Amino acid sequence: MSRLTPGLGTVYDLHSHSTASDGFYSPTDLVLRAAAAGIKVLGLTDHDTTAGLPEAGLAVQEAGIHLIPGVEVSVTWEKKTLHVVGLNIDARHAPLQAGLCQLEAIRADRAREMGDRLAKTGVFGIFEEAKAMAGTGMITRTHFAHCLVRRELAADVRDVFGRYLTAGKPGYVPTRWADITVAIHWIRDAGGVAVLAHPHRYQLTGSWLRRLLGEFKEMGGEGLEVLSGTASPGEVQSSAALALRFGLLASCGSDFHGPDEGWPKLGRLPALPAGLEPIWNAWEK
Ligand code: AMP
Ligand code: MN
Ligand code: MN
Ligand code: MN
Repeated sequence: MSRLTPGLGTVYDLHSHSTASDGFYSPTDLVLRAAAAGIKVLGLTDHDTTAGLPEAGLAVQEAGIHLIPGVEVSVTWEKKTLHVVGLNIDARHAPLQAGLCQLEAIRADRAREMGDRLAKTGVFGIFEEAKAMAGTGMITRTHFAHCLVRRELAADVRDVFGRYLTAGKPGYVPTRWADITVAIHWIRDAGGVAVLAHPHRYQLTGSWLRRLLGEFKEMGGEGLEVLSGTASPGEVQSSAALALRFGLLASCGSDFHGPDEGWPKLGRLPALPAGLEPIWNAWEK
């Protein structure tokens, strides 16, 4: 790959979703939108699946941009759900695919259970609806959210999470995802770099977050998503300081899902704070 000017935030967007999981656009449409938004290097990082990568790989050739093959793995650490983004992976790697297969089964079971729990509160047939909406893609809470909004049981997707889909609410199912150490190994063994996604979305205190990052680094994690679509300027500053403190490479990604209100816009990211080593050094060097 040709070397691109580092620091231009809009050139790299290393976190995005397609219809292979809970994104709105097909991989092809996502790539076209990324190119139109000025992105030169796009990471496609669907939840627990690489199924969108072949189509995205063809689309980037047409669009004249680069694809970083990725995946966003759901993991469990200290009984908490976290997301580890694997970037620049070889998606054909068998142990990675075996791991993602396990996660697909976990998601299928969880979705059925979500449907059962919602039925107990008088909301019937949601599993079938969400499954149909997900199609061949990975089924997620986002699909349930859209179905519940469609039935006018909540005002919008954000509202529906608060009412139905988060801890303690009727449709929430506590889930044991991949062990974080194991997931980091899947990513590394597939030739990729493991990045802790959106560090400020886990509602961890400062000391918990520092403990997580210390352990993440020990386990073989190499990057921290310093710029994420939903991070406030203060959170970006805090993540930048943590990346320096723990010797982690800095990643940036919009976490784009689609055109809905409330989602970050594809490619609308500022430059990485100065003094950080960008994650793309891991594969461009
Ligand atoms: P899952 O991995 O199936 O538990 O679904 C997690 C996904 O739900 C995230 O990747 C987001 O796309 C979406 N999500 C989680 N919380 C919210 C929220 N408060 N508002 C809107 N979307 C959310
Ligand atoms: Mn999502
Ligand atoms: Mn995530
Ligand atoms: Mn994501």
